Amino acid sequence: MAGEPQADCLFCKIVEGHIPATVVRETETTVAFRDINPQAPTHVLVIPKVHYPDAASLAAAEPAVAADILREAAQVAADEKIDDHGYRIVFNTGSGAGQTVWHAHAHVLGGRGLQWPPG
Ligand code: C5P
Repeated sequence: MAGEPQADCLFCKIVEGHIPATVVRETETTVAFRDINPQAPTHVLVIPKVHYPDAASLAAAEPAVAADILREAAQVAADEKIDDHGYRIVFNTGSGAGQTVWHAHAHVLGGRGLQWPPG
């Protein structure tokens, strides 16, 4: 059922504490942890505790939780002190855009210059 934990989902397992992650923040609805393959000096993922396959389906079903993700992303940027220079929040959506994990997540990237367009 939508929103329920999925047995085969890596990020549901991180939410449940069954797979280790370097958690930097946690709220009632979200978890933020360091990406295991960082693409910038700061690279943190912010995920909802509920399972939806991507940001669009999360926002459609639970817009308040989608807003929580954005609020937490900004808080991570402040905690990491990357907000003064600028940072990026990315939701890869679909395999053609590079999505590999089918549990909604925001990448928070910063700590170096970021190019545009991102490629
Ligand atoms: O947007 P995309 O789906 O490609 O992002 C998934 C991210 O999850 C990758 O950046 C990958 O490094 C990260 N990851 C992680 N911990 C895992 C598995 C994947 O941080 N155990």
